[in-house]
Amino acid sequence: MNSIFNQLLNVKGTVVETVRVVDSPLRPVPVLEIHVRPRAGMLRCSRCGRRRRGYDRGGGVRRWRHQDFGCWRVELVSGMPRVDCPKCGVVVASVPRAEPGSRFTRGFEAECAWLMTVADRKTVSGFMHVTWRTAGDIARRVADRLRASMPCPFDGLTAIGVDETSYRKGHTYVTVVVDHERHRVIWAHDGYGREVFDLFFRRLTDEQKASIKVVTGDGARWIDSCVAEHCPNAERVLDGFHIVSWMTGALDTVANACGTMPGAAATNGRRNACAASNTPS
Ligand SMILES: [Zn+2]
Repeated sequence: MNSIFNQLLNVKGTVVETVRVVDSPLRPVPVLEIHVRPRAGMLRCSRCGRRRRGYDRGGGVRRWRHQDFGCWRVELVSGMPRVDCPKCGVVVASVPRAEPGSRFTRGFEAECAWLMTVADRKTVSGFMHVTWRTAGDIARRVADRLRASMPCPFDGLTAIGVDETSYRKGHTYVTVVVDHERHRVIWAHDGYGREVFDLFFRRLTDEQKASIKVVTGDGARWIDSCVAEHCPNAERVLDGFHIVSWMTGALDTVANACGTMPGAAATNGRRNACAASNTPS
């Protein structure tokens, strides 16, 4: 039975010792409690990360919420053994299944973070049985983990785009920078304007700035001045979205103006404007 749970958990360096169902009135739902221990010889120092010899079993136990097995809520329970590290001394061993300080396994956190990208707040809280604030902490840890495992998003940039967008009904702005080559967001920060865009360039090394050849964006002057200062060799390009948006707005203005004219001139003007706005660019 334990070997089946070992396969179901699929947590490296962990061995299942016992499994039991805890149905206590103190808990909102029954819990499948899986007691685990680190695999022999797999203990690592929580400070330097090196594999070390075990010192003792430590004191007390800790729990981590894992992904549900069907309708069962799953919790892993384990002691916190200590290791004898020549470099760091006697310290608690690292936990391979979870981030330091987290009450959730990495698998649970990955599922929760993914759900946050495709579902609304109510669905995430209801499906994962976590508060929205807790889900936010989880997303932050997953993002940090992914960032640490990925190559620097600022390396090898050649064409970037910048734009600001608003949320909270237009009361709060955020500036977003994208990598056109890799089709992904590489940076975002609250606010907009020259000071905010400057913060992006301050994250880049001189070599990373020099590799940027094209910067797209709307016609804002703060983009021009920022690009001129940090990437003087980059070409400043107006992006297609804004050009189409401005053209459509201009045609609407013309059409509305024609609509106010009396007689045939107005009709012809409106018809011509509408025909022009329907012509693919
Ligand atoms: Zn160490």
